[in-house]
Amino acid sequence: MTLTSSLNREAACAQNWDAIVIGAGPAGAVAARQLAQQKLRTLLIERKTFPRYKVCGCCLNQRAINALNQIGLGQLLESAGAVPLNQFRMQYHGREAVVSLPGGLAISREVFDTRLVQSAMEAGAEFLQDTTATIIDSAEKRTSRTVDLSYQGQIAGSATAKIILAADGLGHPSLQNCPGFDMQVAPDSRIGVGAAFKLKNLTSYPAGMIHMAIHRSGYVGLVRVEEESLNLAAAIDRDFIKECAGPAAAVLQILRESGSPVLPEMTDGSFKGTLPVTRRTLRPVGDRLFVLGDAAGYLEPFTGEGMANAITEAMAVAQLVPEGLRHWDSALEQKWLSAHYSLTEGRLFWCRWLARLLRSPTAIGWGLRLFHRFPGMARPIVARLNH
Ligand SMILES: Cc1cc2nc3c(=O)[nH]c(=O)nc-3n(C[C@H](O)[C@H](O)[C@H](O)COP(=O)(O)OP(=O)(O)OC[C@H]3O[C@@H](n4cnc5c(N)ncnc54)[C@H](O)[C@@H]3O)c2cc1C
Repeated sequence: MTLTSSLNREAACAQNWDAIVIGAGPAGAVAARQLAQQKLRTLLIERKTFPRYKVCGCCLNQRAINALNQIGLGQLLESAGAVPLNQFRMQYHGREAVVSLPGGLAISREVFDTRLVQSAMEAGAEFLQDTTATIIDSAEKRTSRTVDLSYQGQIAGSATAKIILAADGLGHPSLQNCPGFDMQVAPDSRIGVGAAFKLKNLTSYPAGMIHMAIHRSGYVGLVRVEEESLNLAAAIDRDFIKECAGPAAAVLQILRESGSPVLPEMTDGSFKGTLPVTRRTLRPVGDRLFVLGDAAGYLEPFTGEGMANAITEAMAVAQLVPEGLRHWDSALEQKWLSAHYSLTEGRLFWCRWLARLLRSPTAIGWGLRLFHRFPGMARPIVARLNH
């Protein structure tokens, strides 16, 4: 399933858009769809060619599914072949605990993100891929903002819009020329590592189960997605990656030490990495500019909050854009800061707590023993993270 742009760069530069959305992950694609549904002239720009691989655990929690249902996109998951999740297996030093999950679906990001972009286009958004957007900074009081569009490292033109949404993921590269959007990166932040495998014999990793191999230096999550594929995503300490001489070796070491099966395909698989993941933009708003999804901030993948945050933030920002088109002021910026805080930062207590706990070998050992004997004890934690 491939996607083609709905217009070329020249056409994108020829009009003044109501909104330009940068990045076609869940945050950008859902925001573009919600804006187009309100009949706003919306351009969604993506630097990669879709479908594209993205390092991710590919698990949608119940909160993400509820949000998609709320905006009428629940059907998309079913028709794309998303796999229902019902169990969560944790392994650490040969010990294991299995707890039941109150909901969730696994779907590859190639399929999920492509379907979301298709839904944005069906709603009337224009889509321009293979194009890197860079927001231009200017001290003047503005009625619109400009974005440089590049193709293969060369600037191909500039597009303007009354409002820009930066949904370009970790590190928000589109804001590199705009002062005031520096990200605070946690000194002990882990790095994301991922790979996908098409395997014939997948009995060691059954469908419907999230398998988590835990190690003092990180964790590796494995889950079956649609079409008999196995998705692997890990968050690993940078020092451990250096110690193992690379991300692939670090992943295999974690799998082996935890007692998880290492399949032959994994030893010569091609692994991709991310920037350090635990980071946040101190003020994810600027003049005629909203920052959302991972571009605004991200904690750790283990808690599965990433896509739920991206989708709910996209829904919230789409409600503020019409007001910003009528009149942009500091009160509107404050509204976005409050919405962002309550949707993400305000929910982070449990995620932070769990992320800290998972860095202590003693806590992991005791937690696993406890959950193995009394699986019901994990239920409130799982439920809290899932909703
Ligand atoms: C190891 C790991 C495991 C994870 N597991 C899960 C999980 O199981 N469940 C979950 O919910 N979340 C998980 N996450 C988090 C999840 O992947 C992110 O939170 C989610 O993708 C954020 O969506 P987004 O739309 O904000 O950004 P992204 O999905 O990163 O999308 C940003 C898009 O912007 C594009 N882009 C970047 N720069 C530009 C530019 N200058 N111009 C144009 N386009 C640009 C990129 O190509 C990309 O397509 C995981 C993350 C990691 C690292």
